[in-house]
Amino acid sequence: MKTPVSLRIDAPLFARLFAHLFPGDLDEHGAVIVAGVATSDRGTRLLARDVILARDGVDYVPGARGYRALTPRFVAEVSHSCAAENLAYLAVHNHRSTDSVSFSPDDLASHERGYPALVDILKGGPMGALVFAVNAVAGDIWTRDGRFPLDHATVIGPRVRTLFPSPRRRPRAADPVYDRHARLFGDLGQEILSALKVGLIGLGGGGSLLNEWFAHLGVGHIVGIDFDKVSLSNLPRVVGATRWDAMSVLARCKSSWLRKLAWRLSSYKVNVARRVARAANPNIRYDAVIGNILDEKTALLLADCDFLVLAGDTMQSRLVFNALCQQYLIPGVQIGAKVTVDKATRQVTNVTTATRPVLPHPCGGCLDCHELILPDRLQEEALTNDERRAQRYVDDDEVAEPSVITLNALSAAQAANDLMMMFTGLFDETVALEHTIHFARQRATMTVGSRTKDQCLDCGSHPKSRRARGDRARLPCRASPR
Ligand SMILES: [Zn+2]
Ligand SMILES: [Zn+2]
Repeated sequence: MKTPVSLRIDAPLFARLFAHLFPGDLDEHGAVIVAGVATSDRGTRLLARDVILARDGVDYVPGARGYRALTPRFVAEVSHSCAAENLAYLAVHNHRSTDSVSFSPDDLASHERGYPALVDILKGGPMGALVFAVNAVAGDIWTRDGRFPLDHATVIGPRVRTLFPSPRRRPRAADPVYDRHARLFGDLGQEILSALKVGLIGLGGGGSLLNEWFAHLGVGHIVGIDFDKVSLSNLPRVVGATRWDAMSVLARCKSSWLRKLAWRLSSYKVNVARRVARAANPNIRYDAVIGNILDEKTALLLADCDFLVLAGDTMQSRLVFNALCQQYLIPGVQIGAKVTVDKATRQVTNVTTATRPVLPHPCGGCLDCHELILPDRLQEEALTNDERRAQRYVDDDEVAEPSVITLNALSAAQAANDLMMMFTGLFDETVALEHTIHFARQRATMTVGSRTKDQCLDCGSHPKSRRARGDRARLPCRASPR
């Protein structure tokens, strides 16, 4: 198993578990976290999908050897249903301590007696136990290959919180270039940002702004994904793109052969983005990916990110982005600007920008629950250009949308601020990360109340939903690259 091993759990689920473990009676209580699993070079993430609370005196009773234990019947029932669903089983209890926690010798002896058999029931694991204190968590994770400690747990909410077995060492003093940052969110905040891996889907107007701002913030690792190149009409919007990147002289030629040559020689947007990010932060790790998240291999490059941004607006990319957020428990945000024009009069009717945070739980801003993934548009996008023309979805070829960098900036700024406030813990405790729509002509902002569909297959807890299933489910990508 890849190390370090960590747990991810969304804030509402964690709140339910926490209320059960720490009701104020200073006693011990038990539960099971049912989890998906995701593995990458960054380690193994256990993704909490559900919490089964053990009833005191019924499922969690005085033990023959230790203080208290889950009953064999409860363990058997829950572990078999985990095995049937291909999910990991994590027995949970609490100790009375506050900032540090570890298993007692009785706890460890009971793992050694019981877990070899449970690992077999659970198809080799991972499975194991977690013990919580008020501000700490420790874990003993078993697989057929061995036994691993839990490194940390991350609670995903408007304020992303990380719990460790014992208090962390003091953060390193931030680089003097970040002095003004550290005055806002401390050396620890700067260290947290430098440890983040952020996925950026689409590096046009909005994406290129975020790319530069994230690099300036000191984000340590960016994965930029875009299949497109810089063209002449991108130059007023794509941050850092030069006339040279667009092969501007050739691209203006009348000869279509020279224009084709210009296109062949022009730069990919992700390579421009990498150049900009490295200029802003020479220490950044940058993966410039020329590709499309509709291909599963490309989408999976984002599965171990800490934050995702969708800044490229097709229905298909919304579908895959939303699935990544829910399946791998990654907070994200979708940004976009839209200008609607009356076809007959050619007058601009509406100018709106949107910033839509997505947290991986019901009512967390799921794009599907908000009906922002439209089935007919999905179908239309899946057709080839010829098919589209044949079905008369469009009369002419590509209709270029109006676009201007100031609109991109409105939605991007809120998204960049959301990332900063979430990870440095600056958000107010009661903040709600609702979708916001800005009407530029009216200079008015509207928030959209959270919505959830009962049986959502992305964010819900329907038996077939993808939420927190990690590597054990498929992403809704296209069957094979064209
Ligand atoms: Zn214990
Ligand atoms: Zn949903």
